[in-house]
Formats: sequence, structure tokens, C-alpha cells
Amino acid sequence: MPETSEHSAAAGHRFDTVLIANRGEIAVRIQRACRELGLKTVAICSEADREAPYGSTADSFLCIGPSSAAKSYLNQDAILLATRLAGAGAIHPGYGFLSENAAFADAVEKAGLTFIGPTASSIAIMGDKISAKRAMMAAGVPCVPGPDTALPDDPATIEHIALEIGYPVIIKAAGGGGGRGMRVVPSANSLHEAIALTREEARKAFGSPSLYMEKFLEHPRHIEIQVICDDHGNVVWLGHRDCSMQRRHQKVVEEAPAAGIAPDIIQPVGLACVQACLQIGYRGVGTFEFLYEDGAFYFIEMNTRLQVEHPVTELTSGLDIVQAQIRVAQGHVLDLTQGDVTCEGHSFECRINAEDSDSFLPSAGVVTHLALPAGPGIRVDTHIHAGYKVSPYYDSLIAKLIVHAPTRAEAMTRMREALAGTEIEGISTNIPFLRALFEDGAFARGETDIHYLEQWLKLRRAA
Ligand code: ADP
Repeated sequence: MPETSEHSAAAGHRFDTVLIANRGEIAVRIQRACRELGLKTVAICSEADREAPYGSTADSFLCIGPSSAAKSYLNQDAILLATRLAGAGAIHPGYGFLSENAAFADAVEKAGLTFIGPTASSIAIMGDKISAKRAMMAAGVPCVPGPDTALPDDPATIEHIALEIGYPVIIKAAGGGGGRGMRVVPSANSLHEAIALTREEARKAFGSPSLYMEKFLEHPRHIEIQVICDDHGNVVWLGHRDCSMQRRHQKVVEEAPAAGIAPDIIQPVGLACVQACLQIGYRGVGTFEFLYEDGAFYFIEMNTRLQVEHPVTELTSGLDIVQAQIRVAQGHVLDLTQGDVTCEGHSFECRINAEDSDSFLPSAGVVTHLALPAGPGIRVDTHIHAGYKVSPYYDSLIAKLIVHAPTRAEAMTRMREALAGTEIEGISTNIPFLRALFEDGAFARGETDIHYLEQWLKLRRAA
């Protein structure tokens, strides 16, 4: 870790205690990073998480509300009050919950605390996919063909936009997230119906009816670039990840680097991301998500937070992304330059979910037996233990299995071994499905796109 020169930490950014406004594996992960940096931690929980082990490993632990996330992990006033009561100077939002809520970031800063993340205005720009696209186009980042403006109401103008882009198109909610608020339109016949349905969905789910349209790419891969920026104009990108293995637009398996991408193809994209960060005055960690088709990259959105899949980049780059994120929030100068970033070997991450392996329906209950794999190049990020009660209130992610090996083929072998050594009983998990996926030939050859997993599941069901 870098030297911590006093003058490099800007006034107002100094803190020695961090409240972690999250739960589960990411609360555990952030606590670990804080401890290694010599920072004290405050854990919060809902009533459902009262017995959660991440509470007993923190320096203090406060229950802030009932089980429903809206009344606890999303309750801004309760979190700010807990921060004050516990004497914390900073809030780490983790991912999900309030991590991309500009109003919360603003409230944290206005309360004289540090939000471990970008400024509220960066979150607001990137949280609206239309303004994000506009900012990216202005910074020279390649985007999916389609206007960087909201769809108008006039049917004739809408039809004209679709014709200009060329069918198939995709209608997306400007405020969408979590794979929701999107609809593919194969031809003009279903255009207006798709817009009406998506608009209604967007109004209900995201509180804004604003929509935009872009080209629907038919066989792209999802490739993303991790960046980290300090408050002093320094930005580095940490290589790339492939997150094409998706079910219902939700990532299931991630890897770093994306296989078969030549350095001269990715290099200009990485530099464009750096340029974009400088242009919008970005601070903290972030991810630029792209679709990659026929040798070209198209920006789709930026995540202004730590991502679930950050460990694959940690294992290939050898950097602790969470520690780096906290240090830049403290105002420290980034202690590495682009030339220092070297990515080695290959890493995979499997998201282990408490869900049925065939129907994918969530599975709550008590973990009666747990055996986790270990060995060279194997990492498990989890908050569960034997006897842990998986509650039905939150996301079904219960563990992340991450492996690292010199080559992609070796990393796949290592993941098979790690999955074979993972035993979770008492609840259903997607482990059988993941084991089958890691036996798939096309996946092993790297011949998959974002639609592959859904097609694979369909064939599997039919068999
Ligand atoms: P969210 O914010 O909900 O995650 P994204 O814009 O990141 O939404 O898109 C999620 C996924 O949806 C992408 O990884 C990709 O699989 C699919 N997708 C989004 N835009 C397009 C597009 N223009 N063409 C094809 N697939 C798309």
C-alpha cells in the first residue's frame, strides 16, 4: 500500500470509522478492507439480519429497522442517524441499495460525512442512461447507434427514429437498472405497443417514464472496463471483464480478461474511458459497460459503484480495489499509474445464489451443512455459515466463488474443482446448474455471446 502523506488527504475527507450501509458478502468484504487500512467499522442490519455474523466482526453493530429493505437498508434517515450515533465519518454504500442514489450521496456530503463513491452529480449523470450516453458521446466513447435524447410522444417521429436506426431496435428506460425496463422490437408492427408497455413499466419501477431507443445488437458480448480515479486528476483502467453469461440480463458468471480481445482493440477503448472520467470529473471506482460485436465496442452504461464482479479484476491485477476506493475517498493520490497496471492470468467468478437450479425460484431457509473449497487460486467471498438462515427479503446471492490460474483453460478446470468442492445443504442453490455450465464446450472455447446462456437453458430444458 502507498505512503499516506498527510498533505495528500484533502481536509474534510479524513475519517477513521466507516459505516457500511449494506449487508451480506459485500459487508464482509468492505469490513476486511477497512480493517487492513486500520479503519474502524460500523455494521448496520435490519431485524432479519440481527444474527448475521458480519455484525459481530464489526467494531459496532446497529439495527436500523424492520426486515423490509425499504425500511432499513434503503432508509436514508435511519442510516444517517446511525452514522452520527456511531461516530463514523464515512459511509460505504457497497452495491445495490443506496449505492447509486444521487440524493443519498448528496445528503451524506451535506451532513459533513464522506460518501465512499463518486459525487452526487456524477451519479445523477450516469444514473440517467440518456445523459450518460450524451456525456460518453461528447467524450468520444463509442456508443450503440441511436439518439442521445429521450423518445418524443409523436408516433410519426418515433417511427422515423426506428427506421433510421434499423430494426431490430431496443426500447430502454432512461432510469432502468437490474436488467429491467427493456424491450426488444423486431419490426415496426410491435413498435408502439412496446413503447407503451415499457413506458408504463418505467413509470412504475423507476419513477420516470423517460425512454430511449437504440439498435438491438443480435450477437454481442458484454465486456466492461474497470476504472479508478482520485480527486487529483489521476485515472487508471484495470483491464477488462467479460460478463456475457447472463440470465434475464443478469450476470451469472464473470471472467477477466475477456477472452480473445487483442490489446490494440481494447487499448483505445480503455483510453476513451479514462478521457471520459477526466471530462466528467469522476472520482472513485466505476465500470464502463460495453457491448462488443464484430470487432467494435458500444457503450451501454456506467456503474458508479463497486461491482459484484470486482474480484476477478483484483485477482488478475493484484490490486485491492476496495482499499483503493476507500483511499481515494480519503483524498489520497492514486498510488499507481497506468504503466504500473499489469493483468496476469485468468479469473472466473460464479455467483452462488439461493435458488432452485432448474426453476431459479428463490430458496429461503437454514443452511444445514456447508463445505467451501480452498487451495491455490481459489477465493470465496461469502457471509454464510452452517446454521445461517437465508432470509427471503433480499437478493439471493449467498457466495461468490472466484478462481485464478495462468490460462483460461486452467482457470476453468480450477472452477470445476472449486464447484465440486462446494457443498451447501438445507437450501437449494444454483450450484448444479453452474457445474453443468462449466462442462459446456462452446463456453470452454469462448464462443458465447449475451444470448448464449438463455439458449443453452432452453435446450437443457427440452432435453
Ligand atoms: P441494466 O442497467 O438493467 O443492467 P444495461 O443497459 O446494462 O441494463 O443492459 C443489460 C443487458 O441488456 C446487457 O448486458 C445486454 O445483455 C442487454 N442489452 C442492453 N442494451 C442492448 C442492446 N442495445 N442490444 C442488445 N442487448 C442489449
